[in-house]
Amino acid sequence: VPTFEGNDLVQDMKILIEHQIENLRIQGFRITPIVVSVLNQFYQNHQVMSILEIKEEISRVLGYEVGNPTIYRICERLHQAGILRAMHSPDGVSRYYVCSNPTDHKHLHFICLQCKQVLEVDFSIEEKVHAHVSEKLDAEVKNQFIQVEGVCKRCRT
Ligand SMILES: [Zn+2]
Ligand SMILES: [Zn+2]
Repeated sequence: VPTFEGNDLVQDMKILIEHQIENLRIQGFRITPIVVSVLNQFYQNHQVMSILEIKEEISRVLGYEVGNPTIYRICERLHQAGILRAMHSPDGVSRYYVCSNPTDHKHLHFICLQCKQVLEVDFSIEEKVHAHVSEKLDAEVKNQFIQVEGVCKRCRT
């Protein structure tokens, strides 16, 4: 049974997607049904997805076959626009996910290795690392990358 809170979340998500689409339009991004579908897909399931997985899901939703290069191009552009995050995978396959709070730079993402769910983690060690490197190595951090992977609560039980 959906709660009011749940409905608010769905509403917030719709507003967020519309807001993102408007921003993309301003940047000269051509908004096609495939682009809208890709955004909806990511914001609705909050999972890490590969190009092939997105392609299959989008083709199913739209009812026609969408090509891999089209999906790849859209994902790369959404990645450049800061909407999609790229997961670093040891197998080299391109996988993406969305951050539902992109203006907050001080948090991490937890990726469940079983269900591929991405959860926002309200925690950051960025400043501590910077301070430590500065103090112990007398060096300056220019870039750091932390990807947290594991098994989520639902998958553990
Ligand atoms: Zn996030
Ligand atoms: Zn899981």
